[in-house]
Amino acid sequence: MTDPSMLDSSGKCDVLIVGAGPSGAAAGIELARAGARVVVLDRARFPRHKTCGDALSNRAVALVDDLAPGDLAATPSASVAGALAIFPDGATIGRSYGDEPGRIVPRFALDLLLRRALERAGAEVHEGVMVRRLLSEGGRVVGAEGDAGRWRAGTVIAADGPGSIGWEALGEAYPRGRTLAVSATAYFEGVAPGPREGWSEHHFHADLPCGYGWIFPAVEGLSNVGVYLRSDAYASSPSRLRALFDAFLAREAARFGPAKRVGTVRSWALPLAGALSRRRGVPGLLLTGDAGRAIDPLTGEGIWQALHTGRLAGTIAAKHLAAGGVGDDAVREYERACAAVLDRPARMRALVQDGVRALVSLGLYRAAPVQALLRWGYASGSLETSKTVHGGGSADASKPIDGSGRPA
Ligand SMILES: Cc1cc2nc3c(=O)[nH]c(=O)nc-3n(C[C@H](O)[C@H](O)[C@H](O)COP(=O)(O)OP(=O)(O)OC[C@H]3O[C@@H](n4cnc5c(N)ncnc54)[C@H](O)[C@@H]3O)c2cc1C
Repeated sequence: MTDPSMLDSSGKCDVLIVGAGPSGAAAGIELARAGARVVVLDRARFPRHKTCGDALSNRAVALVDDLAPGDLAATPSASVAGALAIFPDGATIGRSYGDEPGRIVPRFALDLLLRRALERAGAEVHEGVMVRRLLSEGGRVVGAEGDAGRWRAGTVIAADGPGSIGWEALGEAYPRGRTLAVSATAYFEGVAPGPREGWSEHHFHADLPCGYGWIFPAVEGLSNVGVYLRSDAYASSPSRLRALFDAFLAREAARFGPAKRVGTVRSWALPLAGALSRRRGVPGLLLTGDAGRAIDPLTGEGIWQALHTGRLAGTIAAKHLAAGGVGDDAVREYERACAAVLDRPARMRALVQDGVRALVSLGLYRAAPVQALLRWGYASGSLETSKTVHGGGSADASKPIDGSGRPA
């Protein structure tokens, strides 16, 4: 509940964070641990649903463990031992996460866990507060105004996802084309087992260009299933997102025949990393996670990116507490770090995505040399930032994959 006495706490807060998702929580925990007075506002009340595939890479798991020690182990989740890339003719390439598995953690639970850790660290969290606009003075962001009042702060961190209130301050238009993706997801009960239990599946099809369909290991009997496409490719698709989702299920009829959908099909936008010049702040303001357009174009993953950028912004804001907040130099420092860890890899990974699209649509993935290249690229994890990969793996441990990708 929002305490009305806090709503006009002019000048009393070091850092104001808009959004208590993974990036806002990571920033807030980092800052509160550094002794800053942190106020976090979120329009939602927790626990709340968030449209997501719920997949945490192994590096995201490590970050959550650091931000909220021990909490993940006590939360319902599924371990992800590896991932399978499955092509239209069933050819399958695997990669293992070895002794560093990823996890499927429903966002309903993950975000509550992080929100609790935020308060434990000492941040003030106000739920059900919609923030409407940023406040600026003399070319600097100095706070924000919401339905319930105004807050002044040395630094504002916008961690409020796509369509962030920070985008206007940056003069950035809503992303499109190669810098945006769309995705739809739903939970299913009773999905028939896939090629390998406990491995996530990414299904590549010509009607999901620059994207894929996924089936993830079930948590308490519910599998997260969805489709993902980069927007420039989606724009040339004759089908709408929901039709593509239904077509994916229809192709996997043997898996979904006995299954029952639980809840609605939900879709949401994904702002992608990779633009050549990208502002992620102005004096007094840093943008993190989806607000900072941090998502990996190839996989659509944004949780590790949200945690990482949140933490980075928190660390930089903490260094500038005594100076009264982040100035131009601090913003540049943050932007340079984000460009190195997000945008440069993302540009390479979007090119890989273009290549995979061509290989799938032309059927070239069936050629042995192409398969060898795909196996090497997938299993080496050389372009990965959000996860550690421990080499190849087969769809069925007892049946190694042959050159065609099918179990031998
Ligand atoms: C369908 C789909 C599937 C995905 N699957 C995966 C996956 O499997 N793995 C993965 O790593 N990533 C996935 N992603 C991406 C991932 O969900 C995001 O990158 C991640 O949630 C970003 O975290 P965040 O903290 O930046 O933003 P969010 O999680 O969006 O949190 C933003 C918070 O800000 C609050 N807020 C928004 N506006 C305001 C406002 N004006 N005032 C106050 N509060 C506000 C919201 O209520 C919310 O709590 C997926 C995305 C989609 C759409």
